[in-house]
Amino acid sequence: MTKFSDLNLNPKVLKAIEEAGYESPTPIQAGAIPPALEGRDVLGIAQTGTGKTASFTLPMITMLARGRARARMPRSLVLCPTRELAAQVAENFDTYAKHVKLTKALLIGGVSFKEQDQLIDKGVDVLIATPGRLLDHFERGKLILSDVKVMVVDEADRMLDMGFIPDIEKIFGLTPFTRQTLFFSATMASEIERITNTFLSNPARIEVARQATASETIQQGVVMFKGSRRDREASEKRKVLRMLIDNEGDTCTNAIIFCNRKVDVDIVAKSLKKYGYDAAPIHGDLDQSQRTRTLDGFRAGDLRFLVASDVAARGLDVPAVSHVFNFDVPSHAEDYVHRIGRTGRAGRDGKALMICVPKDEKNFDDIEKLIQKPIPRLENPLQSGAPTGEPEDDGSTAAEKPKRSRSRSRKSTPKSDAAPAAKEQAAPETVSAEAPKKSEKSDQGGSQDRGRGGSNRGRDTKVVGMGDHLPSFIALSFEDRRAS
Ligand code: AMP
Repeated sequence: MTKFSDLNLNPKVLKAIEEAGYESPTPIQAGAIPPALEGRDVLGIAQTGTGKTASFTLPMITMLARGRARARMPRSLVLCPTRELAAQVAENFDTYAKHVKLTKALLIGGVSFKEQDQLIDKGVDVLIATPGRLLDHFERGKLILSDVKVMVVDEADRMLDMGFIPDIEKIFGLTPFTRQTLFFSATMASEIERITNTFLSNPARIEVARQATASETIQQGVVMFKGSRRDREASEKRKVLRMLIDNEGDTCTNAIIFCNRKVDVDIVAKSLKKYGYDAAPIHGDLDQSQRTRTLDGFRAGDLRFLVASDVAARGLDVPAVSHVFNFDVPSHAEDYVHRIGRTGRAGRDGKALMICVPKDEKNFDDIEKLIQKPIPRLENPLQSGAPTGEPEDDGSTAAEKPKRSRSRSRKSTPKSDAAPAAKEQAAPETVSAEAPKKSEKSDQGGSQDRGRGGSNRGRDTKVVGMGDHLPSFIALSFEDRRAS
């Protein structure tokens, strides 16, 4: 087995590796570090969790330890698809370069240009950036890329999904032709193949086992779920999620809950919170300080449930996640592999549970094809717990009943409800069985709604023909309208 000491790394880097507690290089590290140190281009086909970040940071630090940075002319460049991933790469540099004097700058959105400009002006060895932000700096004339010796493109397949490929091509064009390129992607879509053929020169190609086949430590399951009525499916699905979480009991120490859309990330996080679960959302529309705070809290174990979109969670390294819940079936089968790869890391056990509604069955089939094995079907927890009567009643739950009774008669109070229902009362829920869509919108935190004297009255009014776009004044009761 290869040892780190066989890899020709700078002794100060070896010291940092030892302090990080790593015993031996992972396959991507053993494969990518030697050609990278020889100055060759590298094409790494590996995904997060394989140790790929160190596979490019370790040789970069070794190479950069020789020489010094010049003002505004970074010597190396790492491009990442998301801010979080960029921040994570920056942390990796801090860890592995702690005995080497190197300067770095992180260029990501949500941080002031001024601060970043000051760093660049002084001269940096490593620039870690998201493509858009890097180009912003370049276009402001603050950055010169003609001294870049090493350029890393991390998670290229995600860049492709996010529409960054034109930016990447542009950045390639701004760096010297003689640069060394280290290029990483979990998959080789034809567009990625094209980019590598265009911009990499005779790369050493290192492919490590797909996580889908490697992650035997992850126990998987899926609930095939159909709402009792179409307009109830969303809220019933959230109920299924809660039941799945509850069924896991204390074995679920923490979890990432994935949704396909940002709007659902917000709704699910809000709904979970309302039911007393320690949950917070993370997605690209939240401001950076909030994202960082949420992520730090989750990493530190202060937050139990992180509700995330793929983009925000991509590449996040949270070592001990006991569970992943796929609230939605991802629309790209590859994303399933990435998502469940958040758990069962480094040989730990993990569990990945998913909810599949009828419209997602095609995507679900694609996942099973990709991972080449069936995902065990789990019993629908709603069906096992609910009476087999009228469909309308199937969807209602003890916890949700008070909402419905409230929507019919505001004065009724739950008698024997569990704690979540009590919370529900404390934090007025606008979800009504009759108009779930409308309530979901207000669930997203429409401060306008709440701003109206704190009154929820009249919100459950069903207005036929207005679709989702019910102006809130229409939902006000007559008294409210008179008062405002
Ligand atoms: P990555 O794929 O870069 O996101 O790395 C996944 C995790 O593996 C991170 O927590 C790293 O700190 C850890 N790691 C990287 N290289 C090694 C290694 N050689 N031995 C043990 N853990 C490692």
